[in-house]
Amino acid sequence: MRTVIERLGHSIDHQGIIHYDDRPSTYEKAESVIGKRLDRRRNYAILHGDGRKVCELVTWSAQCSGCDGGGCKECGYHGIIRRAMWLPVELADAGRDAL
Ligand SMILES: [Zn+2]
Repeated sequence: MRTVIERLGHSIDHQGIIHYDDRPSTYEKAESVIGKRLDRRRNYAILHGDGRKVCELVTWSAQCSGCDGGGCKECGYHGIIRRAMWLPVELADAGRDAL
């Protein structure tokens, strides 16, 4: 499902695990922050840090680093794992333009 979230901040508990304070948001709100139209087929997050910025969820397949593609418990014996990260929209767009 395509979604927009707003990440208000994060906390780190006594075990060193990061907990994000994410709230549901809307494309319209993200567009008002970034000042341009966004693609309804993509997932976005409005991150709060030094000011607000809009990031896009970028996902890709990669060879499993636990087994170098041979298959292990971590990758479900497929040798491939899905990776995902939030990239600023400008960077995600620049990456697509370069393809
Ligand atoms: Zn593996």
